[in-house]
Formats: sequence, structure tokens, C-alpha cells
Amino acid sequence: SLGICVQLYNVPASLPANSAVAATFFMTGAWAAARSIGARLGAPCNNALSALVYLGTTGLLVYYSSSLVQYRTERFYTMNFGAAAMLLLTCWRMLLHWPRQLIDRCLLVLFWLMALQFIVRTLLSVPFGTSMGDMAFVHSIHWQMINLTMFVFSLLFSLALMGATVVDLTTALREERNRDPLTSVLNRRGFDERFLRMQDERRGGTTAHDAGTALMLCDLDRFKAINDTHGHAAGDAVLRMFAEVLGRHVRASDLLGRYGGEEFVVLASRVNLAEARARAEAIRAKMAQTPLPGLPDDVRVTVSIGLVQLHVGESYEAALQRADVLLYRAKREGRNRVVATEWVKASQSPFRKHPCPVSGGERHGRWRNDRSSLRSRAEIESCPAPVAVVSTHESRPSEHRPILP
Ligand code: GH3
Ligand code: MG
Ligand code: MG
Repeated sequence: SLGICVQLYNVPASLPANSAVAATFFMTGAWAAARSIGARLGAPCNNALSALVYLGTTGLLVYYSSSLVQYRTERFYTMNFGAAAMLLLTCWRMLLHWPRQLIDRCLLVLFWLMALQFIVRTLLSVPFGTSMGDMAFVHSIHWQMINLTMFVFSLLFSLALMGATVVDLTTALREERNRDPLTSVLNRRGFDERFLRMQDERRGGTTAHDAGTALMLCDLDRFKAINDTHGHAAGDAVLRMFAEVLGRHVRASDLLGRYGGEEFVVLASRVNLAEARARAEAIRAKMAQTPLPGLPDDVRVTVSIGLVQLHVGESYEAALQRADVLLYRAKREGRNRVVATEWVKASQSPFRKHPCPVSGGERHGRWRNDRSSLRSRAEIESCPAPVAVVSTHESRPSEHRPILP
């Protein structure tokens, strides 16, 4: 745009200077576009090479501007091939990186076309020669075609960039909506969405889940006492610290979410129950040992974990219900422990078989919205233990006593 403005408004007025400035703007535009598209698509072009092409073509163009008549052909080829080379440096690297997003694919295809048109258009101009007089050239069909192609490509490219901006914005907003602002892990909505997407992928056969998937429901023990004794800000710091501990025990392919106030859920892929149990135990032990930020050295918060392994075809709700049953069993049996089971059918869950009093009833389809408001401690403790636990693992209580209210 700046190059065109310089030419349209004839600033600077001297023709060689005007031509040099316009050419510099054109080349800088091509260089910036190539670098930014490369960076966006995750394959930044080679710094040294792109700088070399940029400085080489711009330097030549500035030199040719000293005598536009003498170097018209050279200038014409240098400008077009130089721009094409800069764009192709990015396109070339993208050969091995086909973008995942549709809008990025559109940008890449447009970028390829734009690069190629610089070459094709320039080669097509050979029969016209560049020896015709200035006025004849400006009025030739060829010149009109140059302007038309540049106009169409600029328009399409601007539209694609606007589309990319909208997509980026929507993605950022969705990400913000799906994250818990306190701990930055997924919130319940984000976790549910990702989980269902993973299940769809699994059905589509695109994800390997050969060794199974484990679900851990983790709840801090007597967390209310932290708030009551040390204040809400200290409680928040503990939640952040707990999220960090959990984050260190999950892999990139796992899901970690904050499911309620002090309740977190981890979905670990490609693990068997023994591995998942070892990880849950490591989380429990780490929490029991770690001093809490800003709190006296001897204060610890422990965690209770209900752990289940998902079986093929088992629904998300059923797995969560099973984990929930085990979590509350861990609480009832003294807290600071992991209770795991291999397979308890949701229909065998005591909460189904002998439904506990549930304030508000079974709400909101897949999972009840606010579990803490659904069951009081007394209600939970009056519930029978799970009937079909195949194996349980109970951790040794830590040397540090959990805070008691
Ligand atoms: P239990 O061992 O049975 O789980 O006892 P608990 O005290 O951890 O459980 P309870 O459900 O009685 O209390 C949970 C507390 O978590 C109550 C609430 O004040 C606190 N909480 C929930 N969300 C937040 C939060 O975002 N920040 C802080 N600081 N506290 C929170
Ligand atoms: Mg708790
Ligand atoms: Mg809780």
C-alpha cells in the first residue's frame, strides 16, 4: 500500500527517488508477508536466506532506479522474481507442514498462487517485450492484467487474513471460556468438550487407546479449614499449587480439569490401572509432602483420589460416577488415600442401586451440575460402600497430619 501511495501521490517528486522508495516498500511488503505467514503457519523461513534475497533485490532495484529507461527490463524482472523468491521461501518450507486449520490452508494456497503468479505473469510479459514506450506499456492489455491480478490477489488475501483474525479471536475466546481463571487448567465445560472430542476420535480410530484410559477424581481434604483458618487468598494459592502438582503428573495427551471448587479430574490416556494408580499415588504423596505457599511450614493439605479405568464403550458419566463413589469411599475411610477399582458398572454403583437422598434430583443430563450441593457429608457417609470393587489400593497416611477443622 505504501509503495502504491508513493507512486500515486508522487512523493518524492524526483522519478529515480520515487521509484527507489516505492520499490523498497514493495519488497519490504513481500518480505514481511512471507515472514509473518511463515511464522503463523509454524514454519518460519530461513532468516539469513530471506534477508539475503530481500537486501539483494531491494539493493538492485534502488540501483536500477538511477536510470529507469536503461534498466527497465532488469528492474521488471528483479522486482517480480525477487517478490516471488521471498514468497516461495515460505511456501517451500510449508510443503512439509500442511496446516490443520482450514483458514490456514486457504492462506497457504493463496500464498502459493500469489508467488507463482509473479513468475507466470512475468514470463508471459516476455512476448510484449519491455521495449515498448512508456505510454504504450501503461495502456497495454498486459499492464491492465498485471493490475487486475494484483488487485484480485490483494483482495482475496485481505479477506483470508480477516477470516484468519476472526478464527483466531473465536479460538482465543473459546479457550478463555474453557479455562479456569484461577488455575489455568480446563474448567468443567472445557474438560467435557475435550473428553467428548477424544471419545469421538477414538471411535474414528484416529487415537491409539490400546492400553486404556484412566480417570482420577481428586478432592482436597478438609480444604474448607484452610479458607477458614488462613483466609480465602491462601486457599486460592493452595488450589493453584495443587493444579501445578497435577500438571506435573500429566502428559501432553492427558486431560486435566478443575471440576468443582477443590475438585480436579485427570484423564490419563494409554495407561493401565497399575500405572495410573502409581501416578495417583505420586500425586497424593507429593501433596502430603509439599509445604503450602505462604502458610506455616508444618501445614499440609492432603488429597483423596478415586481412580477408575475406563472400559471400551463405557460412557463418560458412568466412569465419573464410579470415580465419585471411590472418592467418597476414600473420604470415609480417612482421607489422604487413593482408592482404585478396575471395573464397577455404573448400574452397580450404590448411588444407583440404593439412591442416596439427592437434593435437587438428577440434574442436567450428563453430569449433575454442582455435586457439592447435591449431597451433604452425612448423606454420603450414610451410603453403602461400593459393592463391586475389584481391587482397592489404599495409601499410607502421610506423616503430616492433615488440617482438621
Ligand atoms: P472434604 O475433605 O470432605 O472434601 O472437606 P472439604 O472441606 O474439602 O470440603 P467442603 O466441600 O466442605 O469444602 C470445600 C471448600 O472449598 C468450600 C469452599 O469454601 C472452598 N472453595 C471452593 N472453591 C474455592 C475457590 O475458588 N477458592 C477458595 N479459596 N476456596 C474455594
Ligand atoms: Mg474437599
Ligand atoms: Mg469437594
